[in-house]
Amino acid sequence: MRKELSKIWLSSPHMGGTEQNFVRQAFETNWIAPLGPNVEGFESDIATFLNTNPPPFVAALSSGTAALHLALILAEVEAGDEVLCQSMTFSASANPICYLQAKPIFIDSETFTWNLDPDLLEEAILHRMSLGKKPKALVAVHLYGMPFQAERIVEICKKYQIVLIEDSAEALGSSYKGKRCGTLGDLAVLSFNGNKIITTSGGGALVTYNKEWRDRSVYLSTQARDPAPHYQHSQIGYNYRMSNVCAGIGRGQMEVLNSHIERRRAMHQFYKKVFAAIDEVEVYENTHPDYFSNYWLSCILLNPSTKFDAKELRLWLEKYQIECRPLWKPMHLQPVFADCPFYGDKVSETLFNNGLCLPSGSNLTDADRERIANAIKTYFKK
Ligand SMILES: *Cc1c(COP(=O)(O)O)cnc(C)c1O
Repeated sequence: MRKELSKIWLSSPHMGGTEQNFVRQAFETNWIAPLGPNVEGFESDIATFLNTNPPPFVAALSSGTAALHLALILAEVEAGDEVLCQSMTFSASANPICYLQAKPIFIDSETFTWNLDPDLLEEAILHRMSLGKKPKALVAVHLYGMPFQAERIVEICKKYQIVLIEDSAEALGSSYKGKRCGTLGDLAVLSFNGNKIITTSGGGALVTYNKEWRDRSVYLSTQARDPAPHYQHSQIGYNYRMSNVCAGIGRGQMEVLNSHIERRRAMHQFYKKVFAAIDEVEVYENTHPDYFSNYWLSCILLNPSTKFDAKELRLWLEKYQIECRPLWKPMHLQPVFADCPFYGDKVSETLFNNGLCLPSGSNLTDADRERIANAIKTYFKK
């Protein structure tokens, strides 16, 4: 009888071991609520990790998507406004723009970081202004952990007074010119969903150097209660605060974040070795010294003019119980955003057609790596 192979996941939760102590403490002290010592402790751990002087202000929230929604509200995005957004990303970068009845304007990537192309960004801003409307904000993404071209993008946003929202959901631990992702924009968003580099089972955070914004995000995330003994509201609020139980998981995860970053980066090195002798494949990387990626996911590109094909490789690996995924399908190609303007050409579309994300978890074992390497090698021997 054939032994069932266990599944190798793309990116699965990886507990460090101390998470349950923090969760137990929450139970023992009965802080089973969307506030408490773990929430404050987790926020302070993140602020410390981001490593700036002065440290940023952090609000722990129920998801990265919630953090983006609040970031857009703080940027004063309202119905009818336009918001610029990287097209090649997960839909959660763009959806909150629509929650506010604002309109996403999508921008293509460049091939150096796979992120927002600064030239197209400026072109889009100038064109929208010529049509009579200056975009209110920009959602720029550090895709798969690779920092975007921060210096130029920050400069363009300053020049046109556009609020820069940094979607750093995939890039905790990455940095640009020694500054950690999450500290580069006016507002930044982190995610602790189950597949991210650390997880709270579900959660996110908003990061900013503006204390008023931080306080307002907490106020809005806890139903916008005015300071009064009764329940009084002068604004629409949300139930977006992180629970003290989840924050306990987060505090434990912060203790292993550095080791997770090392292990994810080691997975990238592993794929470099596996594909070194396979000419048809390029492992995505950026070796420029300004860019430090946590390599949240390791990605490859297949040369389209060969007999090998990304979809075929993915299905091949699935047969070996190895989970892979196509790259993010750009937003301008999504049915739900078909009516939104797009600035660019075929860069992100070409990446999408030829790319693949490979198993990248910090919990993968030598045996897993051997299985992956063998399955890949047999495919390219065909
Ligand atoms: C995961 C992710 C989000 C959303 O975070 P959630 O915590 O899942 O809501 C946003 N943007 C990007 C790029 C992501 O990968």
